[in-house]
Parts: sequence; structure tokens; C-alpha cells
Amino acid sequence: KYQQRIPVIGDDEVAKLGKSIQSLGEQLQYYEDSRNEFLAAVSHELRTPLTYIKGYSDILNKGMYKSSEEQSQYLQIINQEAKRISILVDDLFEMSKLQVHEFALEREWTNINQIIEKVITNLKPEIAKKGLMITSNLRDIPLIKIDPKRIEQVLYNLIENAMKYTHQGEITINSYMKNEFVKIKITDTGIGIPKDELSKIFERFYRIEQSRARKTGGTGLGLYVVKQIVQAHEGEIKVDSVENKGSTFTIKLKI
Ligand code: ADP
Repeated sequence: KYQQRIPVIGDDEVAKLGKSIQSLGEQLQYYEDSRNEFLAAVSHELRTPLTYIKGYSDILNKGMYKSSEEQSQYLQIINQEAKRISILVDDLFEMSKLQVHEFALEREWTNINQIIEKVITNLKPEIAKKGLMITSNLRDIPLIKIDPKRIEQVLYNLIENAMKYTHQGEITINSYMKNEFVKIKITDTGIGIPKDELSKIFERFYRIEQSRARKTGGTGLGLYVVKQIVQAHEGEIKVDSVENKGSTFTIKLKI
């Protein structure tokens, strides 16, 4: 049985890690079956950046570099990999919160278009910096009873992915009513997703081609979190994609 041994105080990075490990522990009680697989995935995810950090800090420590450029290059790698761990810890933390509160959505009557607009406004500077366009076509939608913070996170993750995996062109957001459902479509003109990967991208830690994902600093948790939240709302999410053309993620929510 899982026992909480060390009280975790504060909210800095280390406390965050402590907390996420603790709630992951609680979570594991309910998911005995996936325990080994999950721990293996977490340690694998941590091991790679830690190996880099250890290796390059050893080199710096021993003065084994030929120029100051080389030195700063190694420092940069250490910094990058530390950032990677920090993103992973954040994602794990999000995920553990999600598991604990899985069925405790804080639903309220929400104007979904307002949330879409907020996320677009927040991400616009980054999108423009990448030289991409973002347009939206938001039709009238009645208020729906959803957890606005969680749905905001869903939209944020999807639009951020659209941005990460698109090198040129645009991101389009559509929202409209179809029968009794609200549909939100996030379309990009990016690198797309191979057919045989489509069913796997919503799995925990799943990334297509390590090297392609590594460059963008992902953890493979984003879409897993997205799917959990949508399903908790009794909604659906699907993806259509053509390699080198782009992808469309569609969310369907009940009104
Ligand atoms: P990551 O943190 O790696 O982005 P996600 O769970 O968000 O993890 O996505 C899983 C994988 O799905 C990504 O590694 C990426 O290869 C692929 N993917 C997600 N969104 C898109 C997109 N809009 N276009 C192309 N590939 C995508």
C-alpha cells in the first residue's frame, strides 16, 4: 500500500516534483497493472536529459574543452536539458492533478468562444514570432456547462502543438454547432502525422520519432492530458492528418 512518507512543503520545482511523485504514488494504487510500464517510462524520460547534464558538467568540471565557444555550447546543452526536465515535471504534475480530480470537473456555464479567443490572444505573439498566421471563424454557440480552466488547457495544448509542428502557413480555429453538439476544429498546415501513428498519439508519453519530437522539446503527455479532459466531459476528440500537409484535431462537446 502506498504511504506518504515525507511531507512536501512549498511550491518550488523540487516541491513540485515531490508532490507529483506523491500523487503519482496514490494514482498507482488504482492502476497497479500499469505501474511498471509507467515507472519505466518516467525514468526513461528523466534518464536521457540527466545523462547529458552529467556528461557535460563533468567535461566542464575537468576543463576538457578547447575554447570558450565550446564551453558555452556545453553550458547551453545543460541548460536546455534542465529545461526539458522542468517541462516534464510540469506535465507530470498536471497529469497527476488530473488523475486525482478526474471526476471533479468544476463545470460552469461558459462561452466557449471567449476561451478560444483568450488562448489565441495568449499564443499570438509566439505564433507571429514563428512567422505563422492564426485565423478563427467562431459561430454563435450557446453557453455550455464545462470546466473552463480544463477546456482552456485542452485548447492551449492543441494550438501549441499546431504551432510546434508547423513550419509555414497557418493555424485555423473553427467553432460551430452541429445538431446537439459543439464542434471545435484546430487545423494546421504542418508536418502532419503518419497514418499508422494516428491511433497512438493520445497515449501517455507517446511521441512520433524521438528525434523529431526532441527538437521541439515535447514530453508526449500533452495529447494524453487533452484526451483525459475531453473524455471527463463526455466529449470526443479525433484527428485527421495528411503527412506534409497538415492536421485537424476535432473536439465534440455536448451542450
Ligand atoms: P509532445 O509533447 O511531444 O508534443 P503530445 O502528446 O502533445 O506530445 O503529442 C504527441 C505526438 O503527436 C507529438 O510528439 C507529435 O509528434 C504528434 N503531434 C501532435 N500534434 C501534432 C500536430 N498538430 N502536427 C503534427 N504532429 C503532431
